Amino acid sequence: MGKRKFKTESKRLLDLMINSIYTHKEIFLRELISNASDAIDKLYYESMSKNITGLAREDFAIRITADKDARTLTISDNGIGMTEQDLDQNLGVIAKSGSLDFKENVEDEDIDIIGQFGVGFYSAFMVADKVTVISKAYGEEQAHSWESDGADGYTIEEAEKEGHGTDIILHMKESTAEEDYDIFLREYKIRALVKKYSDYIRYPIKMMVDVPAPVEPDESADSEEAKSEPKAPKMIKEDQTLNTMVPLWKRQKSELTDEDYNSFYKGKFYDPEDPARVIHTSVEGVSSFTALMFIPKKAPFNYYTREFEKGLQLYSSGVLIMDRCEELVPDYFSFVRGLVDSQDLSLNISREMLQHDRQLKNIAKNITRKIRNELADFLKNDREGYEAFYENFGLQLKYGMYQDFGLHKGDLEDLVMYYSSSEKKMVTLAEYVERMPEDQTHIYYAAGDSIEHIDRMPRTEALKEKGTEILYVTDDIDEFVFQTVGSYKEKTFLSVKQDDPAAEQDEAAKEVLEKKEEEYKDLLAAIKASLGDKVSEVKLTDRLAEHPVCLTTKGGLSLEMERVLNAAPAGEAIKAERVLEINADHEILDVLKAAQADDKDKMNTYAQLLYDQALLIEGMPIDDPVRFSTEVCKLMK
Ligand code: ADP
Repeated sequence: MGKRKFKTESKRLLDLMINSIYTHKEIFLRELISNASDAIDKLYYESMSKNITGLAREDFAIRITADKDARTLTISDNGIGMTEQDLDQNLGVIAKSGSLDFKENVEDEDIDIIGQFGVGFYSAFMVADKVTVISKAYGEEQAHSWESDGADGYTIEEAEKEGHGTDIILHMKESTAEEDYDIFLREYKIRALVKKYSDYIRYPIKMMVDVPAPVEPDESADSEEAKSEPKAPKMIKEDQTLNTMVPLWKRQKSELTDEDYNSFYKGKFYDPEDPARVIHTSVEGVSSFTALMFIPKKAPFNYYTREFEKGLQLYSSGVLIMDRCEELVPDYFSFVRGLVDSQDLSLNISREMLQHDRQLKNIAKNITRKIRNELADFLKNDREGYEAFYENFGLQLKYGMYQDFGLHKGDLEDLVMYYSSSEKKMVTLAEYVERMPEDQTHIYYAAGDSIEHIDRMPRTEALKEKGTEILYVTDDIDEFVFQTVGSYKEKTFLSVKQDDPAAEQDEAAKEVLEKKEEEYKDLLAAIKASLGDKVSEVKLTDRLAEHPVCLTTKGGLSLEMERVLNAAPAGEAIKAERVLEINADHEILDVLKAAQADDKDKMNTYAQLLYDQALLIEGMPIDDPVRFSTEVCKLMK
């Protein structure tokens, strides 16, 4: 049979592997062992769900054989095996779409792809210049051999093999001055790698190893001579299991070190960084389960895209039944990686059944609470770490507040943080409320496109001058969140740009303002007439410090929300109800009044200019920049 070509994508990754300068080439062993373990899982799972007899769990094993003379390293399993077609499809194409995306995005061949995704089978080509795979699928008569030296494609031929399963035979590359490949044929190295990366694999990873022969009771041992000159021990071969096999999560917390958790996490979830937090918990009760979960430090590159899939691995008594079980974590904690192992779930449960499974719902509820508590603890005991976490995942938490009409507010309101005008750093809502003067009834916030901009907005400056703390928010979703959840500890959220019922309680000030409104009634009406339906109201305000004007809105919709909503491809444009507020204490009022008296055109121009200024201050585009510029120039002359 002739040579078959790799699919283009595979070829590219393959080239990457062959020429890899990646320093952690050793991970090839982890990848191949994990494939072997998956293959056994598949067969075991099938035997359980289809009631196949004759396959006992204790017969399953993975074997490593190193042949120093032939310079081959063989990883064998007695798992499900591959048919000719499987060999062609599985080893000729890259299955992982994640790896593919990555390659398209990253042109310089930085090999962190390996750390990020794990590249499975192909990693063999980092250490081998030829790979032979001999496999016999369970239930098939004929075995096949797949062989490739990477570059020119691969061949598949009929082969001899006794039982079902797969042998991956690596023909190791020659060592060079820079790279030692022979080391991977050494027993101590293999042992160390298995311990490091694959200790939790649930099937025994066996190897024939050299051990000292038991010392024979010997006559001469009694003589003085023999005692002074100990003989080198005679070595014999012994079949040993290299891994402890007990899954990490089934071991006692007290037995495990941070390093155990970290390397487990990095190996299993392809994150080059240690996790920020580890949650390891066992629950006995209506639904018994063990969960091992991790909060990553950084968001994966596709986290805020549609491609990202949430979910935890689901095990039933140590056997993987689902790789990503979405039902286990709510969307707002979708960044959590990890697994759940429960003896209460049946092995052959289908995805549809899972959605309605009561046990699973219980577990999910419990898990959500655990994650919440862990994050609260994180915030309390490692502020800096939490803030770094929040930079990455805060948006998701805020999204959770908004989702389902604020249903999850209770879970999240103590986990979100905002920039504080007075503290000049991120604060929690609890901290804000704690600092509030007793008579303050609102949590004030100001939305805009950057902290610097918000800090200089007219309404913000005025309120700051009074010593009021304001939360500055810059994410699109923020105002929607505040409107959805309404309040925190009975303090309602209020935008600095909305009318403040609290401020209006100052009767004396109100009277002064009303008097002025009366005095300038005609002027305000004339400005309104001049602006037409650009604004729904023109009024005076005593809530501005230095600025002559500002633009606020009536009703629930703010200018920022208007922008966010209109950015989405929707039907009709959505418009906030704009109010032009003029500073009642500003000399501009008299300038306007004078203009109204002797030059109507001038008054109209000033009204337009004021409105445009208000827009600019809010960071909004103005309708006619050319006209604005021309008018300003005229004023300069
Ligand atoms: P992944 O394991 O991420 O799917 P790999 O490139 O490691 O990607 O492997 C591709 C496919 O080849 C696997 O999904 C599996 O179907 C098959 N495969 C690899 N190794 C084995 C094995 N030892 N036994 C059976 N099938 C295997």
